Amino acid sequence: MTTAPPSHTELAARAAALDAEAPLADTRGRFLLPENVVYLDGNSLGPLPAAVPPVLDDVLHRQWGTDLIASWNTHAWWEAPVRVGDTVGRIVGAAPGQTLVGDSTSVQLYNALGAAAALRPGRPLLVTDPDHFPTDRYLTDSVAARTGLEVRRVRPADLHGLLAAEGDRVAVVGYSPVDYRTGELHDIAALTGAAHEAGALVLWDLCHAAGAMPVRLDALGVDFAVGCGYKFLNGGPGAPAFLYVAERHHEHWSPALTGWTGHADPFGLHDTYTPAPGIARGRIGTPPMLSLLCLEAALTVFDDLDLEQVRARSLSLTGFLLRCAGTLLDGLGFEPVTPADPERRGSQVSLRHPHAYGLVRALAARGIVGDMRAPDLLRFGVNALYLSHADVLRAVTCLREIVTTGAYDAAPERGAVT
Ligand SMILES: *Cc1c(COP(=O)(O)O)cnc(C)c1O
Repeated sequence: MTTAPPSHTELAARAAALDAEAPLADTRGRFLLPENVVYLDGNSLGPLPAAVPPVLDDVLHRQWGTDLIASWNTHAWWEAPVRVGDTVGRIVGAAPGQTLVGDSTSVQLYNALGAAAALRPGRPLLVTDPDHFPTDRYLTDSVAARTGLEVRRVRPADLHGLLAAEGDRVAVVGYSPVDYRTGELHDIAALTGAAHEAGALVLWDLCHAAGAMPVRLDALGVDFAVGCGYKFLNGGPGAPAFLYVAERHHEHWSPALTGWTGHADPFGLHDTYTPAPGIARGRIGTPPMLSLLCLEAALTVFDDLDLEQVRARSLSLTGFLLRCAGTLLDGLGFEPVTPADPERRGSQVSLRHPHAYGLVRALAARGIVGDMRAPDLLRFGVNALYLSHADVLRAVTCLREIVTTGAYDAAPERGAVT
């Protein structure tokens, strides 16, 4: 590295020491990652777990191809949404019978938010984060418009103020623990406690938390949660999402989408809908079996993992990334927007730079895959299961080289997806 400052040597030694302390080779081998790629976009699309191709091959050729429709019974396809839901449940701190897998996060959000609001009749407010992921904001508006409720867009830091003023009017507080742009981590326990104290329910969107850190849904008394299958859970593009409904709500919760597979007796072909007991009433239509079984295979990555250890490695990596950025990118126009405080940091690091998109493109051309969020954030998702401190240093060193040599397009044309 001709442009690397002397501190690069120190950082390289530090990376080697940290990697020796927390060896990742064992779990990295669980993924089929291309050689020489540093994949910092697993918070958008997790990579392919090695366990998936043989399972998918079996599902295609033996199950679908040979056993045909009998597979719904002989290969337990029918039970898969609840079975795989229980597997996700273990990762997010939910005892069996409360988590379901199917449909997209957007669909699950709509269903869960409507159901949660209906459990708090007489309370007209839905609270969401002005910085929430767009689909969460749009769907909150849509649920409110269809049910005659009102939306309050209030940052998690300002929730206490809102609850003090009109807490008894709040039906549901719907937040994400991790800000998808800045990587800031909000306190699930404190926010859940505050909402409950006001008599409201909580709906957590765990897209950027599930698989990246321990989430103790049952222990924290969370009411509803949803999350993606394709980010830190690595279930594949468009993998089905999950829905968690705490058992204490099972008797009364009423999903907006009353599809036939959520019926108490789906094959009775009844005239009218009678909800299945428990979480199964969250089922809607025929599940996407190929994606669902890919996700099930992908989740075996977590079988023997302790999420506390995953979190510790993740914090070490994101902390090191911030340190490398502070040292190697100093004075080059970058501003870290991810909190340095580990208690307030999710599993990603975002840096602000006016040429974010061009820089991300130049990095990708050199095998460093991150992404950007408009208008000016470079976003690096850090998955502790396959990244090393040496990878992190390589990424930041490469970014320094691109900026100092000007080897990037400052204003490239935007693609549909970055
Ligand atoms: C990724 C993400 C989604 C995605 O929703 P889809 O329905 O899968 O497109 C929703 N919410 C949050 C917070 C996300 O990060």
